[in-house]
Amino acid sequence: MRKSTSLLCVATMGTMLTPVFGHARNSAVAPERRAAQALAKMTPEEKVRLLHGPMPAILQPAKRPKDMTVGAGFILGVDRLGVPQLVESDASLGVLNLMEMRKGDVATALPSGLSLASTWNPEIARAGGAMIGSEARAKGFNVMLVGGVNLVRDPRAGRNFEYLGENPLLAGQLVGSQIEGVQSNNIIATIKHFALNDQETGRNVASVEMDEAAMREGDLLAFQIGMEQGNPGSVMCAYNRVGGTSSCENPFLLNDVLRRDWGFRGFVMSDWGAVHSTEAILAGLDQQSGEQLDGRPYFSDLLVQAVKESRVPQSAVDTAAGRVLHSIYAHGVADHPLQPGQPIDYEAHAGVAQQAAEQGIVLLRNEGGLLPLAATADKILIVGGNADVGVPGGGGSSQVNPVGGLKRVIRGAANGPAAGFAKRGYGGMAPLDALRAELPGAIVSYLDGKDAAAAAAAARAADIVVIFAEKFATEAMDHADLSLGEGQDELIDAVVSTNDKTVVVLETGNPVLMPWLEKVPAILSAWYGGQRGGAAIARVLTGKVNPSGHLPVTFPASTEQLPNPVLPGSDAPAADKETRAVYGLQAGTKPFYIHYPEGSDAGYRWFDKKGLKPLYPFGHGLSYTQFRYDGLKATGGNALTVRFTVTNSGQRAGADVPQVYVTRPGKAKRLIGWAKPYLKPGESGEVSVTADMRVLADFDAKAQGWVLPAEKVKVEVGTSAVDTVLTGTAKLNRLVRKP
Ligand code: BGC
Repeated sequence: MRKSTSLLCVATMGTMLTPVFGHARNSAVAPERRAAQALAKMTPEEKVRLLHGPMPAILQPAKRPKDMTVGAGFILGVDRLGVPQLVESDASLGVLNLMEMRKGDVATALPSGLSLASTWNPEIARAGGAMIGSEARAKGFNVMLVGGVNLVRDPRAGRNFEYLGENPLLAGQLVGSQIEGVQSNNIIATIKHFALNDQETGRNVASVEMDEAAMREGDLLAFQIGMEQGNPGSVMCAYNRVGGTSSCENPFLLNDVLRRDWGFRGFVMSDWGAVHSTEAILAGLDQQSGEQLDGRPYFSDLLVQAVKESRVPQSAVDTAAGRVLHSIYAHGVADHPLQPGQPIDYEAHAGVAQQAAEQGIVLLRNEGGLLPLAATADKILIVGGNADVGVPGGGGSSQVNPVGGLKRVIRGAANGPAAGFAKRGYGGMAPLDALRAELPGAIVSYLDGKDAAAAAAAARAADIVVIFAEKFATEAMDHADLSLGEGQDELIDAVVSTNDKTVVVLETGNPVLMPWLEKVPAILSAWYGGQRGGAAIARVLTGKVNPSGHLPVTFPASTEQLPNPVLPGSDAPAADKETRAVYGLQAGTKPFYIHYPEGSDAGYRWFDKKGLKPLYPFGHGLSYTQFRYDGLKATGGNALTVRFTVTNSGQRAGADVPQVYVTRPGKAKRLIGWAKPYLKPGESGEVSVTADMRVLADFDAKAQGWVLPAEKVKVEVGTSAVDTVLTGTAKLNRLVRKP
């Protein structure tokens, strides 16, 4: 053992991230006071003005405020009181140029949310958030619709690529860090989509039926952890219904959970086209976004009318306007006026995107050490997956126009709610170009893979083949199944049958099935890698970067293993005219109910509980080096702390993600923490993980609080949710805690 370093619970890799983004000081006067003072001076009309706004893309240009940057939405301010207008932009993966409203404008495209979650590294989330927040501000935005943290419950769900995986602790910590980064630019970040908007099929008509305990221990816990850490100025309520009531007029979610229990002081904005009544304000909604989509001026003319008729008290308007003002002052928006058109250092920002992509790549399989590519490989054949252009992201409101622009665009959906806007966009740094640059001495050729026989013939003559396989995912559409589709499984089969030195690089927005797995020695999951994904893939393939990503989702072996083998609503009757009229946005299907039999045991917890063997487990990820774990010490009592040592026992420097799982009697195992130490060969580090008792406890809906019974628990340290290396036990005291 060469050296021993102390590590924090969620330790980071000791990487150098350029601190290019500042955090200016805001006024010393408390935001509560400033909000109250401003509110006291406002006319009723001015208060209502803060509570609604349009979607500029479908607003006549003459009606847009002059000099305002065009994004997803805006809320007018009150000039005479120095209350700024709120200028809103999507989203988590970079600053959007929605419907090309800003001709030719580009932005740095970060890797997808699942790639970020695969880093298990909050520092990467914070750096990415700080970077995209600085671009948003430089372009003229002061609200970012960032921070999607819906849990991955079904690997067919179309927006999973935007989110942060299946585990509330991992997703919550990452989204909190991302929000901290965004808000360090004196802008408001929005955590979304609150709550249980875990699939796209029927997203604006479906009702999720789940008991309170399962919600609190699952999806809501991800939000709770994220909000405690990131303190977002805003929460976006979701399209779907929960327990029969729309998320945006759901008093349980908005008034009880968010405000009463979590003490949220900011404002709730609706998703675009998710408002169905003026009375929603009484349930806790403060702001109607993209108001034209709802078809009715619920939070403007109709609200004024409702106050006049005493159906809504003036105090409700005051409260909502006060919350908007609170966030404006708390997050420095009023103190730091927008100055659109500031310069952006895209080169430095590309470095942030690349580092994120490098840490997000998961080495799933590496039989016989086929990777990194041998220096002796002269003839390398690259096949398929648009590897000559690059796969930066998925479709919908997270789709960034990357620096350099999209080079290839294909329609993303033939029919259904996504048909109007989903596009498959290719661009950024192409893996092919990046590999050629990394391997100047090799002959790197490319075939698009459309002709499997030709690819197989060419593979015969190559020293090594790298097949890129991609699957497009988009907002507003779920996958029909888990296959790669488009003949890619057959292509991989054909190629590996003529050359067994074949590497598959997956660029997908979800787990996929791999019927060819046993034949293919090396597999990388690179997700959607943002604009520098190609560079990151090339550096991992060639060994310049030692892979350190770990799966934030379970890869099932079949849809039969899923809690809902049939995707909820996939068999629902198609929407009729009436459904569309009620729900504003095109619904696709008639209303239906979604039941999640797994409850809070989403993902690996379901597999653990049911004794199912996944294709690849949650937490899995290989390295080009090896790590050893020793010396487990678990101490219980009123807190659970787990300590152990990690040693790099291999030949290369690299980062590991040792994970700590705890199992209570009769329960599925739960992740309580992890570390991400970067270790040189022979180097060791001490890891110490202390559990947040909520990730272990039960939520008692009757008593309204968390309860952890006095029990002896099993402690496991492992490389995934199923690969355990160290085992111990601890005795815990009974603990109770408020929600
Ligand atoms: C999405 C949100 C997004 C909003 C504004 C909606 O369709 O669900 O995530 O922020 O549009 O673009």
